Amino acid sequence: MELIQRGKEQAERFGAEFQHGSIEAAEVEERPLELSLSTGETIRTRALIVATGASARWVGADGEEELMGYGLSTCATCDGAFHRGDDVLVIGGGDSAMEEALFLAKFADSVTVVHRREELRASEIMADRAREHADIEFAWNTELLAIDGSQEAGVTGARLVSHPEGYPSERYENGEDVTVEEVDVGGVFYAIGHEPNTAFLQDTPVELDSDGYVRTTDADSWATTATAAEGVFAAGDVMDRAYQQAVTAAGMGSMAALDAEEWLESTPAPSAAAAEAPPMEADD
Ligand SMILES: Cc1cc2nc3c(=O)[nH]c(=O)nc-3n(C[C@H](O)[C@H](O)[C@H](O)COP(=O)(O)OP(=O)(O)OC[C@H]3O[C@@H](n4cnc5c(N)ncnc54)[C@H](O)[C@@H]3O)c2cc1C
Repeated sequence: MELIQRGKEQAERFGAEFQHGSIEAAEVEERPLELSLSTGETIRTRALIVATGASARWVGADGEEELMGYGLSTCATCDGAFHRGDDVLVIGGGDSAMEEALFLAKFADSVTVVHRREELRASEIMADRAREHADIEFAWNTELLAIDGSQEAGVTGARLVSHPEGYPSERYENGEDVTVEEVDVGGVFYAIGHEPNTAFLQDTPVELDSDGYVRTTDADSWATTATAAEGVFAAGDVMDRAYQQAVTAAGMGSMAALDAEEWLESTPAPSAAAAEAPPMEADD
Protein backbone atom coordinates (compact mmCIF):
# COMPACT_ATOMS: atom_id res chain seq x y z
CA MET A 1 0.00 0.00 0.00
CA GLU A 2 2.87 2.34 0.84
CA LEU A 3 4.47 1.75 -2.56
CA ILE A 4 1.14 2.46 -4.31
CA GLN A 5 0.64 5.65 -2.28
CA ARG A 6 4.16 6.84 -3.08
CA GLY A 7 3.67 6.07 -6.78
CA LYS A 8 0.46 8.09 -6.75
CA GLU A 9 2.14 11.05 -5.06
CA GLN A 10 4.99 10.94 -7.55
CA ALA A 11 2.52 10.94 -10.48
CA GLU A 12 0.70 13.93 -8.92
CA ARG A 13 3.99 15.81 -8.66
CA PHE A 14 4.31 15.37 -12.44
CA GLY A 15 0.80 16.71 -13.05
CA ALA A 16 -1.40 13.58 -13.03
CA GLU A 17 -4.95 14.09 -11.77
CA PHE A 18 -7.03 11.30 -10.25
CA GLN A 19 -10.76 10.94 -10.69
CA HIS A 20 -12.84 8.17 -9.09
CA GLY A 21 -15.59 6.20 -10.83
CA SER A 22 -16.08 3.24 -13.10
CA ILE A 23 -16.13 3.76 -16.87
CA GLU A 24 -19.47 2.49 -18.13
CA ALA A 25 -19.32 3.53 -21.78
CA ALA A 26 -16.72 4.85 -24.20
CA GLU A 27 -17.20 6.81 -27.43
CA VAL A 28 -13.92 6.49 -29.30
CA GLU A 29 -14.93 7.05 -32.94
CA GLU A 30 -14.56 10.83 -32.78
CA ARG A 31 -12.30 13.35 -31.08
CA PRO A 32 -12.35 14.16 -28.27
CA LEU A 33 -12.85 10.64 -26.92
CA GLU A 34 -15.64 10.51 -24.35
CA LEU A 35 -15.83 8.31 -21.28
CA SER A 36 -19.04 8.08 -19.24
CA LEU A 37 -18.44 7.37 -15.56
CA SER A 38 -20.66 5.62 -13.02
CA THR A 39 -20.70 8.95 -11.13
CA GLY A 40 -22.63 10.55 -14.00
CA GLU A 41 -19.60 12.59 -15.09
CA THR A 42 -18.11 12.55 -18.58
CA ILE A 43 -14.38 12.72 -19.27
CA ARG A 44 -13.28 14.13 -22.62
CA THR A 45 -9.76 13.37 -23.72
CA ARG A 46 -7.51 13.33 -26.79
CA ALA A 47 -5.78 10.05 -25.94
CA LEU A 48 -6.65 7.12 -23.70
CA ILE A 49 -4.58 4.32 -22.17
CA VAL A 50 -6.83 1.42 -21.19
CA ALA A 51 -5.34 -0.35 -18.15
CA THR A 52 -8.43 -1.81 -16.52
CA GLY A 53 -6.88 -5.22 -15.83
CA ALA A 54 -8.53 -8.63 -15.80
CA SER A 55 -10.57 -10.02 -12.93
CA ALA A 56 -10.12 -13.63 -11.86
CA ARG A 57 -13.28 -15.72 -12.28
CA TRP A 58 -14.91 -16.86 -9.07
CA VAL A 59 -16.56 -20.24 -8.61
CA GLY A 60 -19.68 -19.03 -6.80
CA ALA A 61 -19.12 -21.27 -3.74
CA ASP A 62 -20.64 -20.35 -0.37
CA GLY A 63 -18.18 -18.43 1.81
CA GLU A 64 -16.03 -17.05 -1.03
CA GLU A 65 -17.05 -13.39 -0.58
CA GLU A 66 -15.98 -13.45 3.09
CA LEU A 67 -12.81 -15.52 2.65
CA MET A 68 -11.27 -14.03 -0.53
CA GLY A 69 -7.88 -12.78 0.68
CA TYR A 70 -8.19 -14.77 3.94
CA GLY A 71 -6.98 -18.16 2.74
CA LEU A 72 -8.92 -18.11 -0.52
CA SER A 73 -6.83 -16.69 -3.37
CA THR A 74 -6.74 -16.37 -7.14
CA CYS A 75 -2.93 -16.24 -7.37
CA ALA A 76 -0.59 -18.98 -6.16
CA THR A 77 2.60 -17.13 -7.07
CA CYS A 78 1.39 -14.29 -4.86
CA ASP A 79 -0.07 -16.11 -1.86
CA GLY A 80 1.46 -19.60 -2.04
CA ALA A 81 4.17 -18.86 0.52
CA PHE A 82 1.48 -18.23 3.18
CA HIS A 83 0.53 -21.91 2.97
CA ARG A 84 3.68 -23.68 4.14
CA GLY A 85 2.68 -27.05 5.60
CA ASP A 86 -1.04 -26.66 4.71
CA ASP A 87 -3.23 -28.99 2.70
CA VAL A 88 -4.65 -26.87 -0.12
CA LEU A 89 -7.14 -27.18 -2.97
CA VAL A 90 -6.68 -25.84 -6.49
CA ILE A 91 -9.93 -25.45 -8.42
CA GLY A 92 -9.60 -25.84 -12.20
CA GLY A 93 -8.33 -28.14 -14.92
CA GLY A 94 -6.40 -26.03 -17.42
CA ASP A 95 -2.75 -25.06 -17.76
CA SER A 96 -3.01 -22.31 -15.17
CA ALA A 97 -4.47 -24.76 -12.63
CA MET A 98 -1.52 -27.12 -13.25
CA GLU A 99 0.93 -24.23 -12.91
CA GLU A 100 -0.71 -23.12 -9.66
CA ALA A 101 -0.64 -26.69 -8.31
CA LEU A 102 3.04 -27.21 -9.18
CA PHE A 103 3.96 -23.88 -7.60
CA LEU A 104 1.94 -24.57 -4.44
CA ALA A 105 3.53 -28.01 -4.07
CA LYS A 106 6.77 -26.21 -3.11
CA PHE A 107 5.12 -24.92 0.06
CA ALA A 108 2.02 -26.93 0.86
CA ASP A 109 2.00 -30.39 2.45
CA SER A 110 -0.45 -31.61 -0.14
CA VAL A 111 -2.22 -30.09 -3.14
CA THR A 112 -5.49 -31.49 -4.46
CA VAL A 113 -6.64 -30.33 -7.89
CA VAL A 114 -10.44 -30.30 -7.95
CA HIS A 115 -11.82 -30.74 -11.45
CA ARG A 116 -15.43 -31.15 -12.54
CA ARG A 117 -14.65 -33.68 -15.28
CA GLU A 118 -12.40 -36.72 -15.60
CA GLU A 119 -10.14 -35.17 -18.22
CA LEU A 120 -7.94 -32.12 -17.95
CA ARG A 121 -8.08 -29.22 -20.38
CA ALA A 122 -4.38 -28.59 -19.69
CA SER A 123 -1.67 -29.36 -22.25
CA GLU A 124 -0.20 -32.87 -22.09
CA ILE A 125 3.15 -31.67 -20.78
CA MET A 126 1.67 -29.61 -17.92
CA ALA A 127 -0.80 -32.34 -17.02
CA ASP A 128 1.98 -34.96 -16.90
CA ARG A 129 4.15 -32.78 -14.70
CA ALA A 130 1.31 -32.35 -12.22
CA ARG A 131 0.24 -36.02 -12.36
CA GLU A 132 3.81 -37.18 -11.73
CA HIS A 133 4.32 -34.92 -8.71
CA ALA A 134 4.24 -36.90 -5.45
CA ASP A 135 2.43 -34.15 -3.50
CA ILE A 136 -0.31 -33.44 -6.06
CA GLU A 137 -3.54 -35.43 -6.10
CA PHE A 138 -6.62 -35.08 -8.27
CA ALA A 139 -10.27 -35.07 -7.21
CA TRP A 140 -11.99 -35.95 -10.51
CA ASN A 141 -15.63 -35.27 -11.28
CA THR A 142 -15.69 -33.02 -8.25
CA GLU A 143 -16.69 -29.40 -7.60
CA LEU A 144 -16.48 -26.97 -4.70
CA LEU A 145 -19.75 -26.18 -2.94
CA ALA A 146 -18.57 -24.15 0.07
CA ILE A 147 -15.48 -22.89 1.86
CA ASP A 148 -15.42 -22.89 5.67
CA GLY A 149 -13.53 -20.54 7.95
CA SER A 150 -13.51 -16.93 9.06
CA GLN A 151 -11.45 -13.81 8.44
CA GLU A 152 -9.79 -14.37 11.84
CA ALA A 153 -9.02 -18.09 11.43
CA GLY A 154 -8.60 -18.18 7.63
CA VAL A 155 -9.80 -21.14 5.58
CA THR A 156 -10.36 -24.25 7.71
CA GLY A 157 -12.19 -26.58 5.34
CA ALA A 158 -14.26 -27.05 2.22
CA ARG A 159 -17.35 -28.93 1.08
CA LEU A 160 -16.96 -30.87 -2.15
CA VAL A 161 -19.54 -32.61 -4.29
CA SER A 162 -18.78 -35.41 -6.72
CA HIS A 163 -20.51 -37.67 -9.22
CA PRO A 164 -18.84 -40.39 -11.34
CA GLU A 165 -20.20 -38.87 -14.55
CA GLY A 166 -18.98 -35.29 -13.92
CA TYR A 167 -20.56 -31.81 -13.51
CA PRO A 168 -21.68 -32.74 -9.98
CA SER A 169 -22.90 -29.34 -8.73
CA GLU A 170 -25.44 -29.17 -11.55
CA ARG A 171 -26.66 -32.62 -10.52
CA TYR A 172 -26.65 -31.57 -6.84
CA GLU A 173 -28.88 -28.60 -7.70
CA ASN A 174 -31.18 -30.88 -9.70
CA GLY A 175 -31.54 -33.14 -6.65
CA GLU A 176 -29.65 -36.08 -8.21
CA ASP A 177 -27.80 -38.65 -6.09
CA VAL A 178 -24.30 -37.19 -5.50
CA THR A 179 -21.55 -37.57 -2.88
CA VAL A 180 -20.95 -34.59 -0.59
CA GLU A 181 -17.75 -34.59 1.46
CA GLU A 182 -16.17 -32.19 4.01
CA VAL A 183 -12.36 -31.85 3.79
CA ASP A 184 -9.91 -30.10 6.14
CA VAL A 185 -7.80 -27.64 4.17
CA GLY A 186 -5.89 -24.46 5.02
CA GLY A 187 -6.15 -22.80 1.62
CA VAL A 188 -8.19 -22.74 -1.59
CA PHE A 189 -6.90 -21.36 -4.90
CA TYR A 190 -9.19 -20.54 -7.82
CA ALA A 191 -7.62 -21.17 -11.24
CA ILE A 192 -10.58 -21.05 -13.63
CA GLY A 193 -9.40 -18.14 -15.73
CA HIS A 194 -9.68 -14.38 -15.91
CA GLU A 195 -12.24 -12.00 -17.36
CA PRO A 196 -10.75 -8.83 -18.93
CA ASN A 197 -12.51 -5.63 -17.80
CA THR A 198 -13.50 -4.46 -21.27
CA ALA A 199 -17.32 -4.36 -21.17
CA PHE A 200 -17.22 -0.61 -21.92
CA LEU A 201 -15.23 -1.27 -25.11
CA GLN A 202 -17.74 -3.71 -26.66
CA ASP A 203 -19.11 -2.32 -29.93
CA THR A 204 -16.34 0.28 -30.29
CA PRO A 205 -13.54 0.28 -32.90
CA VAL A 206 -11.13 -1.07 -30.23
CA GLU A 207 -10.59 -4.66 -31.33
CA LEU A 208 -11.15 -7.35 -28.69
CA ASP A 209 -10.21 -11.04 -29.02
CA SER A 210 -12.74 -13.84 -28.57
CA ASP A 211 -12.29 -13.71 -24.77
CA GLY A 212 -12.59 -9.92 -24.60
CA TYR A 213 -8.89 -9.02 -24.23
CA VAL A 214 -7.83 -5.86 -26.08
CA ARG A 215 -5.91 -6.64 -29.27
CA THR A 216 -3.18 -4.18 -30.10
CA THR A 217 -2.40 -3.52 -33.76
CA ASP A 218 0.72 -5.71 -33.60
CA ALA A 219 -0.39 -8.16 -30.92
CA ASP A 220 1.91 -10.98 -32.03
CA SER A 221 5.16 -9.07 -31.65
CA TRP A 222 4.23 -6.88 -28.65
CA ALA A 223 5.79 -4.02 -30.61
CA THR A 224 3.14 -1.41 -29.84
CA THR A 225 0.39 -0.63 -27.35
CA ALA A 226 -1.73 1.12 -30.00
CA THR A 227 -5.19 -0.31 -30.64
CA ALA A 228 -7.33 -0.22 -33.77
CA ALA A 229 -8.93 3.01 -32.49
CA GLU A 230 -6.92 6.20 -33.11
CA GLY A 231 -5.53 7.61 -29.87
CA VAL A 232 -6.48 4.57 -27.77
CA PHE A 233 -3.68 2.50 -26.25
CA ALA A 234 -3.75 -0.50 -23.91
CA ALA A 235 -1.40 -1.83 -21.23
CA GLY A 236 -1.25 -4.55 -18.61
CA ASP A 237 -3.52 -7.48 -17.86
CA VAL A 238 -6.33 -6.12 -20.05
CA MET A 239 -4.25 -6.85 -23.17
CA ASP A 240 -1.87 -9.52 -21.85
CA ARG A 241 -3.35 -12.91 -21.16
CA ALA A 242 0.06 -14.59 -20.94
CA TYR A 243 2.04 -12.97 -18.11
CA GLN A 244 -0.38 -10.99 -15.92
CA GLN A 245 2.23 -9.81 -13.42
CA ALA A 246 2.72 -6.43 -11.75
CA VAL A 247 6.12 -5.86 -13.31
CA THR A 248 5.02 -6.74 -16.85
CA ALA A 249 1.92 -4.53 -16.49
CA ALA A 250 4.08 -1.64 -15.26
CA GLY A 251 6.48 -2.14 -18.19
CA MET A 252 3.64 -2.03 -20.67
CA GLY A 253 2.28 1.05 -18.90
CA SER A 254 5.57 2.73 -19.66
CA MET A 255 5.39 1.60 -23.32
CA ALA A 256 1.83 2.94 -23.56
CA ALA A 257 2.84 6.31 -22.09
CA LEU A 258 5.61 6.65 -24.69
CA ASP A 259 3.29 5.55 -27.53
CA ALA A 260 0.55 7.96 -26.41
CA GLU A 261 3.01 10.84 -26.04
CA GLU A 262 4.41 10.26 -29.53
CA TRP A 263 0.87 10.01 -30.97
CA LEU A 264 -0.18 13.25 -29.25
CA GLU A 265 2.88 15.06 -30.57
CA SER A 266 2.31 13.85 -34.13
CA THR A 267 -1.47 14.48 -34.13
CA PRO A 268 -2.64 18.07 -33.94
CA ALA A 269 -5.28 18.87 -31.30
CA PRO A 270 -8.77 19.19 -32.88
CA SER A 271 -8.85 23.00 -32.41
CA ALA A 272 -5.39 23.38 -34.00
CA ALA A 273 -6.39 21.05 -36.84
CA ALA A 274 -9.58 23.07 -37.44
CA ALA A 275 -7.59 26.31 -37.54
CA GLU A 276 -5.22 24.82 -40.15
CA ALA A 277 -7.96 23.23 -42.28
CA PRO A 278 -9.17 25.07 -45.41
CA PRO A 279 -12.61 26.67 -45.05
CA MET A 280 -15.45 24.19 -45.66
CA GLU A 281 -17.53 24.39 -48.84
CA ALA A 282 -21.20 25.20 -48.26
CA ASP A 283 -22.22 21.66 -49.36
CA ASP A 284 -19.65 19.82 -47.16
C1 LIG B 1 -4.20 -11.55 -5.05
C2 LIG B 1 -3.19 -11.15 -6.10
C3 LIG B 1 -1.85 -11.03 -5.77
C4 LIG B 1 -0.90 -10.68 -6.76
N1 LIG B 1 0.44 -10.64 -6.41
C5 LIG B 1 1.37 -10.41 -7.37
C6 LIG B 1 2.75 -10.45 -7.07
O1 LIG B 1 3.16 -10.74 -5.94
N2 LIG B 1 3.65 -10.14 -8.07
C7 LIG B 1 3.23 -9.80 -9.33
O2 LIG B 1 4.08 -9.49 -10.18
N3 LIG B 1 1.92 -9.80 -9.64
C8 LIG B 1 0.98 -10.11 -8.71
N4 LIG B 1 -0.35 -10.15 -9.04
C9 LIG B 1 -0.72 -9.78 -10.40
C10 LIG B 1 -0.75 -8.24 -10.53
O3 LIG B 1 -1.52 -7.70 -9.47
C11 LIG B 1 -1.38 -7.85 -11.87
O4 LIG B 1 -0.69 -8.47 -12.93
C12 LIG B 1 -1.27 -6.32 -12.07
O5 LIG B 1 -1.90 -5.64 -10.99
C13 LIG B 1 -1.95 -5.91 -13.37
O6 LIG B 1 -1.92 -4.52 -13.45
P1 LIG B 1 -2.95 -3.75 -14.35
O7 LIG B 1 -2.65 -2.30 -14.12
O8 LIG B 1 -2.95 -4.27 -15.72
O9 LIG B 1 -4.39 -4.09 -13.75
P2 LIG B 1 -4.95 -3.95 -12.27
O10 LIG B 1 -3.88 -3.85 -11.25
O11 LIG B 1 -5.96 -5.05 -12.15
O12 LIG B 1 -5.68 -2.55 -12.28
C14 LIG B 1 -6.85 -2.34 -13.04
C15 LIG B 1 -7.60 -1.20 -12.37
O13 LIG B 1 -8.64 -0.78 -13.25
C16 LIG B 1 -9.82 -0.65 -12.50
N5 LIG B 1 -10.97 -0.86 -13.41
C17 LIG B 1 -11.45 -2.01 -13.94
N6 LIG B 1 -12.51 -1.77 -14.73
C18 LIG B 1 -12.69 -0.42 -14.70
C19 LIG B 1 -13.63 0.47 -15.31
N7 LIG B 1 -14.61 0.03 -16.11
N8 LIG B 1 -13.54 1.79 -15.04
C20 LIG B 1 -12.56 2.28 -14.23
N9 LIG B 1 -11.63 1.49 -13.64
C21 LIG B 1 -11.70 0.16 -13.86
C22 LIG B 1 -9.74 -1.73 -11.44
O14 LIG B 1 -10.60 -1.42 -10.37
C23 LIG B 1 -8.26 -1.60 -11.06
O15 LIG B 1 -8.07 -0.58 -10.13
C24 LIG B 1 -1.31 -10.44 -8.08
C25 LIG B 1 -2.67 -10.52 -8.41
C26 LIG B 1 -3.61 -10.88 -7.43
C27 LIG B 1 -5.08 -10.98 -7.81
